[in-house]
Amino acid sequence: MHDSIDRRGFLARAAAAGVWLGWTPGALGLTPAARGLPGAAASAGPPIRGPVIRRGAPGFAEAAHVYNSRFDSVLPSLVARPLDAADVRTAVQWGVAHGVPLRARSGGHNYAGFSTLSGGMVLDLRNLRAIGVDTHARTATIGAGAQLIDVYSALAAHGVTIPAGSCPSVGIGGHALGGGMGLAGRKFGLTADNLLSARIVTADGRQITASAHENPDLYWALRGGGGGNFGVVTSFTFRVHPVPRTVAWFFVSWPGSVAADALAAWQAWAPHARPELTSIFHLNGGGSNPARVTGQYFGPASDLHGLLGPLTAVGGASVSTGDLDFFRTQLMWAGCSSISLTACHTAGTRPGGTLPRESFQAKSDYVAKPLPAAARNALVQAAAARAQIPGSGAILFDSYGGAINQVAPAATAFVHRKVLFCIQYLSYNGGADWLRSTHSRMRPYVTGGAYLNYTDPELTGWQAAYYGSNYHRLLSIRRAIDPHHYFNFPQAIGR
Ligand SMILES: Cc1cc2nc3c(=O)[nH]c(=O)nc-3n(C[C@H](O)[C@H](O)[C@H](O)COP(=O)(O)OP(=O)(O)OC[C@H]3O[C@@H](n4cnc5c(N)ncnc54)[C@H](O)[C@@H]3O)c2cc1C
Repeated sequence: MHDSIDRRGFLARAAAAGVWLGWTPGALGLTPAARGLPGAAASAGPPIRGPVIRRGAPGFAEAAHVYNSRFDSVLPSLVARPLDAADVRTAVQWGVAHGVPLRARSGGHNYAGFSTLSGGMVLDLRNLRAIGVDTHARTATIGAGAQLIDVYSALAAHGVTIPAGSCPSVGIGGHALGGGMGLAGRKFGLTADNLLSARIVTADGRQITASAHENPDLYWALRGGGGGNFGVVTSFTFRVHPVPRTVAWFFVSWPGSVAADALAAWQAWAPHARPELTSIFHLNGGGSNPARVTGQYFGPASDLHGLLGPLTAVGGASVSTGDLDFFRTQLMWAGCSSISLTACHTAGTRPGGTLPRESFQAKSDYVAKPLPAAARNALVQAAAARAQIPGSGAILFDSYGGAINQVAPAATAFVHRKVLFCIQYLSYNGGADWLRSTHSRMRPYVTGGAYLNYTDPELTGWQAAYYGSNYHRLLSIRRAIDPHHYFNFPQAIGR
């Protein structure tokens, strides 16, 4: 599966360094001698070429924070920003040798704050964001810290794309490792489905390739097994797809009074529509569009009148459609139509970025049989109930089918291949009880699966929910590649 892991070498290095088994949150902020810590080498941080920002240094809070501001009080002891894969190796070797816990961070968008930790080291990969396109081979090699809007931009300059989500500042690292679903998903599959190879630094300090030919078990695991497990991916090589100069976009919205009927029409249509068309149904808690579909079609908008017929048959539908340059369409989905590409990044993550961070939490479900009226009504009521409490929220339905469901559940680590759609219950600025009760009401109607990129730290039985029948293979791969379980977090494989 992979080069043999040198257990004795690992233990010898750790012993030589006086492994820091007593690592405690915030320990690096204190005098090592006073704590009985292993000494100045550890408190200085990893000897990398890139910056190492310690707690207390200017700019530390901004460097430490992840996208979700719910986790602003969770502070590592240091944030290391490697400049290249060699730096990543050095940082991992240093972390292992000193017993310092490590969390990799690409875009910092994990819902549960798993790319930060209290005490320990955050390995922030923002400097590993080179994007190279080989038009002849139809591949793109992308640094793990690249953000999605930059991926779309760089690839569109060559007339190609990969399928991925619409949030501009999500990192390709976490996104691809967990699946990656977006508005080209039914045509080109998940982001992970387009992965040809990855370079990864493992806990024994090597950098190896995972592909169909090298370390194929690991390659299988990286396609949906989730970030934070197995090692730190430094770059991904994807298959890219030519895109037409323009694609069609559409919005269909309805008054709240027919929301349950609109959902019925959407669920009977969207997962079975032609694969060129991917759509998301939204039940919004408040606002002017209580029920709405957004979608993208790889074809002319003139086709949409006919294609959207099952939706527009529901009374009160209001439709807008158009043709737009492919990259401008991605800017529109990103909410960046009226700002520059530079501004279309989260403030603090790139120079000139203006998008605000957010405070949110979510849960998810998969649906394999159409929701009956009782379930649809319950969801419509739940969305309306969200409008009555502080904050905001929505229930989103990502259509599957098409290329996503062409892949067998065991062909990659991403198991959810026989479903109609994924439901995401999303709440901003509070609403935890609303999330729990809405999720609980849906138990009779769903598969029991959950999408790990919509990470839910409260989920019981997350191993089965995220990975289903693929969990045991993932566990054996994780044990082989990281036998001491250095790469660890609350929902790590093997916890
Ligand atoms: C506003 C918003 C919109 C979103 N929209 C979509 C969407 O449309 N479709 C969709 O599928 N998902 C979507 N997501 C979910 C998103 O795909 C996941 O949160 C994803 O894991 C984020 O990746 P990241 O690199 O930004 O996160 P991070 O927080 O950096 O990382 C996520 C996890 O992966 C680990 N990790 C990160 N980088 C690496 C690496 N290089 N090697 C190994 N492990 C690593 C981290 O330690 C952490 O456990 C959205 C999230 C947000 C916040």
